[in-house]
Amino acid sequence: MRRIIRRKLSGQVLGVILCLVGIAALFAVFWKAWSSISTSSPNVLSSLWTYILNEQVDLFSTVTIKLVYLSIISAIFVALGLVALAFSWQIFYLSGESVLLQCPYCKNHWRARRAEGWAECPHCRQFIQPQVTKRN
Ligand SMILES: [Zn+2]
Repeated sequence: MRRIIRRKLSGQVLGVILCLVGIAALFAVFWKAWSSISTSSPNVLSSLWTYILNEQVDLFSTVTIKLVYLSIISAIFVALGLVALAFSWQIFYLSGESVLLQCPYCKNHWRARRAEGWAECPHCRQFIQPQVTKRN
């Protein structure tokens, strides 16, 4: 069985951009929180979490958004980016029944293991050169 991976460039670019934006925003949130809390506090994680939950940040100096919402939006961006990446990878398995052949006489279709130069049409029993109509 042969495996063919086709990548959709637009989907990949979109996925990478979404991931990068999301990761950058998450990193910015954590960096801001990390630099604002005292790292000598006994429970760094909980104070980090408290800071993110309560603190807000100015976006473009007009919009104020809570850090926790910014984190959620960033995580959604990363998730969407991963989904876009996943969908841009189309994996085709060339298995035994992978080629759709068409008879030039009766126009019927049938599946075959591979594209054949000459074959007997299973519908009209003519010895023909089948046309490959679809590979997937
Ligand atoms: Zn035929």
